[in-house]
Amino acid sequence: IVEVSNVRKSYVPGSLEIPVLSGIDPKIGRREFLATMGPSGSGKSTFMNLIGWLYRPTEGQVLVRERDLNKMSDEELVRVKGLEIGFVFQTFNLVSRLTAFENVLLPTFANSRIIIDSRKRTKELLEIMGLYDRMHHKPGELSGGESQRVSSARTLINDPAILLADEPTGNLDSRTGADILCIFMDLNMEGRTIVIVTHDPEIAKYAYRVILVKDGIIQYN
Ligand code: ATP
Ligand code: MG
Repeated sequence: IVEVSNVRKSYVPGSLEIPVLSGIDPKIGRREFLATMGPSGSGKSTFMNLIGWLYRPTEGQVLVRERDLNKMSDEELVRVKGLEIGFVFQTFNLVSRLTAFENVLLPTFANSRIIIDSRKRTKELLEIMGLYDRMHHKPGELSGGESQRVSSARTLINDPAILLADEPTGNLDSRTGADILCIFMDLNMEGRTIVIVTHDPEIAKYAYRVILVKDGIIQYN
């Protein structure tokens, strides 16, 4: 479902070029549950942002569901991205003025594909996440784990085939982290492709496959 070929990525802040990834080519299959590990600064988030179409590669090809990132205009990218790929950030990126319900519903306003009843689906997702009774709370009134689950529900509202999560449990205690991983496992059983970044070997155990980003390349186990 994701094919990366010979991708190189460098950052160029000012005139200094910082190479991060040099010629990586992982393939991620449909229905996979993959964990990405590696030292801090090794390029895990960069890798996720490339397959999540947040960054363009410096060189090489990124295909997601047979669509070529290099061949898409910025406008096309924005339109398609929200439908194909769901991204859960370590910082939950919730809108503090809005309630949990409104936060989850938000992406549907930008979705041209008609969702029969997005309000009903929003309630369902919050129920799956165990947040039915927190629906009308604002982010400031939620715990870290609850915010993370609101963020995950929001990511799922447009029903993406791929769910990417960068350190989804980074800010959570281990029990709450395990709860979130169980939800991800259920989503994987339903047929979604899941890719997570984690530094925690206990969390990586939930995945079927683990890859290691180190020294700019991907080392397979
Ligand atoms: P962590 O485990 O700490 O989250 P990571 O593996 O996710 O680390 P990345 O965020 O991918 O690492 O960063 C890889 C390298 O690229 C780091 O050395 C970082 O300083 C650098 N880097 C990341 N983003 C930028 C940017 N926008 N501009 C310049 N350098 C960057
Ligand atoms: Mg990171």
